[in-house]
Amino acid sequence: MPILSRRTAADRMERTSPDAALVPLLDEFPMGRRNTDSAGRTLGRNFPGARSGLFETCANPSCDSGWLHLWRSRSTPIFEGGWNCSPECTAIRMHAAVRREMDGRGSSQESYRHRIPLGLVMLEQGWISSSQLRKALDAQKAAGSGRLGHWLIRQQGISEQLVTKALGLQWSCPVLPLGFHDAEALAPAMPRLFVDAFGALPLRLAASQLLYLGFEDRLDAVLALAVERMTGLRVESGLVQGSLFRPAHTRMLKTSFPPVELVEAVSEPAVVHVLARAIERVRPVESRLVRVHDCLWLRMWRRRQHGPLPATENVEDLICSIGA
Ligand SMILES: [Zn+2]
Repeated sequence: MPILSRRTAADRMERTSPDAALVPLLDEFPMGRRNTDSAGRTLGRNFPGARSGLFETCANPSCDSGWLHLWRSRSTPIFEGGWNCSPECTAIRMHAAVRREMDGRGSSQESYRHRIPLGLVMLEQGWISSSQLRKALDAQKAAGSGRLGHWLIRQQGISEQLVTKALGLQWSCPVLPLGFHDAEALAPAMPRLFVDAFGALPLRLAASQLLYLGFEDRLDAVLALAVERMTGLRVESGLVQGSLFRPAHTRMLKTSFPPVELVEAVSEPAVVHVLARAIERVRPVESRLVRVHDCLWLRMWRRRQHGPLPATENVEDLICSIGA
């Protein structure tokens, strides 16, 4: 009698619980396997994998595991917001993502858009004379190195602020102040390699949704777009005066960044293999793939993110070079 009444109470609870609607699905499972414990009680959402199996379906549209995935004891990995029921489904979804990224997004055409030469901008504004421009150009030619701005400052005594202002006009972007720079807090915005290779400096976060990204003398719109897609933050790029930029950039490179794995893959299938394998190893609660110039950047969140940027120790990056 007590056992019977307990069973009845359990059954009643189940049917009134929000999950009650799912119970008939289990009863109709094609293999006839019941989701019960040794005492014959229905386990509902507490069996391994229940959360993923019952409440999510595999994000691979061509997944053929059917109801089998209910029995797979994995709630991760999640890739681009969708759960993958098996390594095979991870690989198929990764292949589609790699294809998407290779088909143009993140390519570098934007970087080479024609711009008015810096000397002309400055001449037009009346900030330098034609003789100053000629002498600086001659010095640049003779030295065979250095940007024109550098020679205008060094040889013609033009102020650095004015050259930066002209670069801002040339790139149609703001000149950003450096102010207080919290390198450590901004390090999770992108891998150290990008800060180094693309001369970028995450400057600050505003209102938890806007990331200011600084550059010394040329913007990198491809990188800015990639960071925007990866972080979900709006990215505003601008120039920072060189003498302020360089020490801050050096300091930033010394701070600790999320762990990163660098991989060179020889073919597209190899790229897919490497990326899918990483996801299966880390089993992230979220992961995303974006292209940055000739690299694919995979970020994997090991724990849920609280706040506008993840904690350094909670994400792992993989950068895969995709060759020429
Ligand atoms: Zn699947």
